[in-house]
Amino acid sequence: MTPSRPGVTPARDGAIRSGRHRGTPVPDGGARRAGSLASVPRLSEVTAELDALWPPERAEEWDAVGTVCGDPGAEITRVLFAVDPVREIAEEAVALGADLIVAHHPLYLRGTTTVAASHFKGRVVHTLITHDIALHVAHTNADTADPGVSDALAGALDLRVTGPLVPENGLGRICELDHPETLGEFAARAAARLPATAQGIRVAGDPDATVRRVAVSGGSGDGLFGAARAAGVDAFLTADLRHHPVSEAVQQTPLGLVDAAHWATEWPWCEQAAAQLDAISDRRDWNLRVHVSKTVTDPWSAHHISGAPN
Ligand SMILES: [Zn+2]
Repeated sequence: MTPSRPGVTPARDGAIRSGRHRGTPVPDGGARRAGSLASVPRLSEVTAELDALWPPERAEEWDAVGTVCGDPGAEITRVLFAVDPVREIAEEAVALGADLIVAHHPLYLRGTTTVAASHFKGRVVHTLITHDIALHVAHTNADTADPGVSDALAGALDLRVTGPLVPENGLGRICELDHPETLGEFAARAAARLPATAQGIRVAGDPDATVRRVAVSGGSGDGLFGAARAAGVDAFLTADLRHHPVSEAVQQTPLGLVDAAHWATEWPWCEQAAAQLDAISDRRDWNLRVHVSKTVTDPWSAHHISGAPN
């Protein structure tokens, strides 16, 4: 229950990865140069591979996935993965010399009539276009993919995935623990393994209850309580939980609820996705430099524990 310190970057090292650099990037686009193994892909070639990992047609109807800005013919040598396409990430991409940001959350979920730099989202667009940086989004298509966002979350906690939480749409994962532990120990595992945030981890339910099987779902998961109950798991790890759904859930069943910061539950996907693109880059001799942002973009900036209830 101890809150993590705000502003602390994710604990696990190795988050910033560099593609194996096998020579000077080829300056003449996708064409291979005699004597060089490496080629420089166009944005359209990279996004075609990303779309194969996370098919856009698998995104929810309300979602906005795909390329937000960028020239399909632009050369890509350096890619930055992040959860949120916010100003800090755009500036990080500029400082890094990235040509492409792959973000989990959309920049614009609804239509807009302006990208003027006087608006904070328009400012992001201007920063990106001014520095020739493309932005590509994989959101609910990455949630439902296999491996997807919840596989990365399970992997961060060293949980053994046995199947999807919602088989119909591929959302969430059911996992088994190697050894039974208490709900409190499971929450402590989440606190230790997920990147540090101001929120830390909250628990609803008996902290001493035994946990053997759990469900996990990256991002907002309070719409999946019914699925977690139906799956018969002992605990459910997700984010964005609210008073009434949680109150009713713990009154109804002994299901333990573990609530992490939304950003923290989705950040492990960035590492997983970066590794996937790294492997593609190797296979296609692209020589891409692939990075994962360690910038904490969870909007909550501080957490104060209130006095003990009487
Ligand atoms: Zn999310």
